[in-house]
Amino acid sequence: RELPADPETGSRLRQVQGACYSRVDPTPVSQPRLLAWSPEVAALLGWDASDVADPVFAEVFGGNRLLTGMEPYAACYGGHQFGNWAGQLGDGRAITLGETINGKGQRWELQLKGAGPTPYSRRADGRAVLRSSIREFLCSEAMHHLGVPTTRALSLVGTGDAVVRDMFYNGNPRQEPGAVVCRVAPSFIRFGNFEIFSARGEVDLLGRLIDFTIDRDFPELEGDGALRRVRWFEEVCRRTAVMVAHWTRVGFVHGVMNTDNMSILGLTIDYGPYGWIDNFDPDWTPNTTDEGMRRYRFGHQPKIAHWNLWQLANALHPAMRDAAALEGALALFGDVYEAENSRMSAAKLGLDEWRDGDAALLESLHRLMFEGEMDMSLFYRTLANVDTRAPDADLFADVFYDESRRTESRPTFEAWLAEYAARVEQGGESAEARRARMNAVNPLYVPRNYLAQQAIDAAEQGDLSRVNELLDTFRRPYEVQPGREHFAARRPEWARNRAGCSMLSCSS
Ligand code: AMP
Ligand code: MG
Ligand code: MG
Repeated sequence: RELPADPETGSRLRQVQGACYSRVDPTPVSQPRLLAWSPEVAALLGWDASDVADPVFAEVFGGNRLLTGMEPYAACYGGHQFGNWAGQLGDGRAITLGETINGKGQRWELQLKGAGPTPYSRRADGRAVLRSSIREFLCSEAMHHLGVPTTRALSLVGTGDAVVRDMFYNGNPRQEPGAVVCRVAPSFIRFGNFEIFSARGEVDLLGRLIDFTIDRDFPELEGDGALRRVRWFEEVCRRTAVMVAHWTRVGFVHGVMNTDNMSILGLTIDYGPYGWIDNFDPDWTPNTTDEGMRRYRFGHQPKIAHWNLWQLANALHPAMRDAAALEGALALFGDVYEAENSRMSAAKLGLDEWRDGDAALLESLHRLMFEGEMDMSLFYRTLANVDTRAPDADLFADVFYDESRRTESRPTFEAWLAEYAARVEQGGESAEARRARMNAVNPLYVPRNYLAQQAIDAAEQGDLSRVNELLDTFRRPYEVQPGREHFAARRPEWARNRAGCSMLSCSS
């Protein structure tokens, strides 16, 4: 159902019925300039530095030029936002250029984010600001190197055009530089792509999208018809559980776990107002839009993922007609999350295995880290250095954010450390082997919010060196990198409550 063209953008916004996507070309920008790119993702696509240096690269990935074979489109999807059904959303500022098959036969979809309006843009401009594009670019690559399932980012291209986000910034509209990120993944299909057809009663299309997804992205699944669909949904539950367990492991808070931001492949997708845990706090959310409800707080992510899968199961039901099988798959989510979380927690703590009683040890640690205001990443890196025959709480001096809390919690912390040391000793592993194992799962370098903000501040002044230095640092997040100690330090006090450094809003 086509609505009149928007007088400002000329775009035709519509409710797109009976279709999975709409053909739409990127809107050209005035001065596409390559600001940063990921060498690993370029290599995945079969490109090297000379391909990237070609001026055509910035034109294509800024949205000004199409290569032969590209047939850009925006996808139609719906979603539950903050717990409520929101109807049609769709790719409002994302445009898929096409897909490419690399030398290994892997298929990768290339998608521009911020490439201009689409039929799904609603009242927004289809653009993205440099600030949020840097955040998406850096974090998706960091997540990959951390071993967390994620969409990737090939490039960050400045557009040369200004974008207005904050209409009332010091009384005037605030102009910000615009940018386009090229994201890369085998598929960008979300839970919401299935939900929209179900909500509209388009059951035939729903079934076709399910089978298309299975055929293309889950070819390993066996069986046929109904059985294969059930196995597929089980696999979606399993992958989602693994993804969220990784988020818990590294201290990542997504911030907007709406069902339109949940990848059917179990990849972390849509880096908006995400954040990283500095001082350990399960109640923390980086998203200012969610400050009241705190629906998407760190410690709530597993429950929300399960709730989202529940919505997906509801949406799939008209095409699957097997409530018991769907419920069985949903139960699998909890089992897989528990198992993965135990396995990862054991590794983080350097335990030989997860035993009865270890959950209590972890729980008291969480309480201590929260009440003592300890930095999560630094805590685990320091724990790897503890001599379990003579544990010393002084090693942790830099881990605390507040000296008085450190003093207060000292006796309980020493008691915990003694209990921990005794537990590790039972395993009988050498100190060196334990440290290596722990340091391979406990990152030293994570894209702390204030680090990203510093890189953004410099980039807005035209200096991209910090973005590129962080990108390089996050390529080896578990390794000590001499000269880069400051990127591993705990958040400085000035950044505690500053906008951009700790809290962010949805719109960007
Ligand atoms: P998000 O909260 O980022 O998942 O976005 C929710 C919906 O709003 C999605 O359909 C986006 O495509 C759309 N959207 C967000 N920002 C813009 C924008 N600047 N222009 C057009 N659509 C947008
Ligand atoms: Mg989104
Ligand atoms: Mg977003």
